[in-house]
Amino acid sequence: MAMNAFEIKKQICEVGHKLYAKGFVAANDGNISVKVNDNEFYCTPTGVSKGDLTPDMIIRIDATGKKIEGKLNPSSEIKMHLRVYQERPDVRAVVHAHPPVATAFTVAGVELDQYILPEAVLTIGNVPTCEYGTPSTMEIPDSLMPFIQKHDAFLLKNHGALTVGNTLQKAQFTMEEVEFNAVICKHARELGGVEEIPCEQLEKLMELRKKMQIPGRHPGCKTCKNLGTENCRCKHNCDKGDKKAAAPAAGDAALVAEITKKVMEALGR
Ligand SMILES: [Zn+2]
Repeated sequence: MAMNAFEIKKQICEVGHKLYAKGFVAANDGNISVKVNDNEFYCTPTGVSKGDLTPDMIIRIDATGKKIEGKLNPSSEIKMHLRVYQERPDVRAVVHAHPPVATAFTVAGVELDQYILPEAVLTIGNVPTCEYGTPSTMEIPDSLMPFIQKHDAFLLKNHGALTVGNTLQKAQFTMEEVEFNAVICKHARELGGVEEIPCEQLEKLMELRKKMQIPGRHPGCKTCKNLGTENCRCKHNCDKGDKKAAAPAAGDAALVAEITKKVMEALGR
């Protein structure tokens, strides 16, 4: 049931149109690729808006990025796609876009690592932020390497996002999931704060993920390296008894002490 060349090209165009319609790509931003076999890939050309893609514009390249077929030229960002295919034989499609809210998280230096929505927990888990790199150089492909084996979604610092999948639709849906998760997280922060899904509930979702046999890689329910230690960022979720009371209370106490000190100083005492 392999798709023929025209069907693949058409599907790439449709995904491009959706990315553009959703505002995930400005001007000629973003790129999409699909793997046919180890030395054959279809990808979007450079210099064309994803909203204007037509099947005749899609090009075919080999594993080194050399054009096999097509009038236009491949995007310089195709290097990161090829690197992903090299490192992850399970990946058949890669989508790169600049979804505005998720991208803003990287600009603000805020991690998109909170487990807040069951759907996002099931499909992507936390989304790592890859170190900043100059577009079109090997810096961006290299920046993916620390995370590539454990994740299907990545944020590129001060740049955008990259998602992968065993199908093009999966990679596209993952991109939508990343942005939706970022939008909800931003709204929640604006409304006063984020309440994460507690650990025991996350474990249930991880079980469900196994049962549903969701394809792709996932960082797991907890990625905190300091789990069980003083520095554990998810401690408030793990403490069975007094959930999330400990950490914020300590913060409040410190704040009160600081304000008291400032007030006393201002009063000259
Ligand atoms: Zn980009």
